[in-house]
Amino acid sequence: MSIHHPEIVVTSRIPPFLTTGLQEKYVVHERDHIRDRQVFGRVRALVGGGESKIDASYMALFPALEMISVCGVGYDGIDVAAAKKRGIMVSHTPEVLNDDVADLALGLLLAVARKIPAADRFTRNADWLDGPFPLTRKLTGAKLGIVGMGRIGQAIAKRAAAFDMDISYNTRHQRSDVPYKYVPNVTALAAAVDFLVVITPGGAATRNLINAEVLKALGPQGFLVNVARGSVVDQVALIEALQKKTIAGAGLDVYVDEPNVPAELRKLDNVVLTPHVASGTVETRKAMSALALANLDAHMSGQPIITPVPECRP
Ligand code: NDP
Repeated sequence: MSIHHPEIVVTSRIPPFLTTGLQEKYVVHERDHIRDRQVFGRVRALVGGGESKIDASYMALFPALEMISVCGVGYDGIDVAAAKKRGIMVSHTPEVLNDDVADLALGLLLAVARKIPAADRFTRNADWLDGPFPLTRKLTGAKLGIVGMGRIGQAIAKRAAAFDMDISYNTRHQRSDVPYKYVPNVTALAAAVDFLVVITPGGAATRNLINAEVLKALGPQGFLVNVARGSVVDQVALIEALQKKTIAGAGLDVYVDEPNVPAELRKLDNVVLTPHVASGTVETRKAMSALALANLDAHMSGQPIITPVPECRP
């Protein structure tokens, strides 16, 4: 690779498709393997997954930094305000993962309501020989509350509509372009529904949005599904609610301190847990990689970035 290719640093695990694409056009360094101090002065871009943690002090290591390309739609780990102050552009990969995340949200709803993983274990263990599996909860026709009605929230609602679910939602601003009932208060939304799905961004503005009060409102017959970020749900309050059965169950793809999942949570049988895989299909990771690379290429060739984060839009 010629030294005239722009130099970049990969800051977290990225899909193999993106690694291959980057290696064709860039001199690629890995965050924890930069031995030559002079590299820091030459790096023009950082590339990482949605879980990348890039704060002002890390950016300060790179005096020539121009861009951060995130391979993911969530960018709560990036200090965008600090980037903007230095004129560093930040891009992400919206839209291309909507279907997968919505599919997994519906999968978790079905899995936790119909106890699919427990039924699988029951069948494998031949517990069936001792009697039938306990009855479960019907999803079709139930009341669904969606916290966050953006790109992915709408994709979830579209699928839930096919299950004849009665859909309402909470956001900070009511939308005029969706047919679902708006509930301005998240606790009131939780109180009104059977299933609550969380799909907001992470970060300080949504930290513990789903707190003990919201869980209490959801109630002993209510189920929670979180495909947003672990930080959006008060994990301690959630574990307590699940242990005391003050909510019926939860389907979780995201956690506060990934990849650490508290033992108390792993022990519970009223949860279905997945390891932050909502966008994790070959098709979607390829599409995300292509968009993350296209954003980087656009910037390096002097073109406008295709999908800058909202804060960096002109
Ligand atoms: P959008 O920006 O399109 O939508 C975000 C929605 O959240 C908006 O409707 C927004 O409405 C709402 N929202 C923001 N803050 C609040 C709040 N405090 N209370 C209630 N609603 C709020 O984002 P996407 O739909 O594309 O993605 C959403 C998030 O999903 C990502 O940021 C990411 O964290 C997560 N995600 C998780 C994945 C996984 O692997 N599990 C994969 C992909 C995404 P308003 O501004 O009016 O409040």
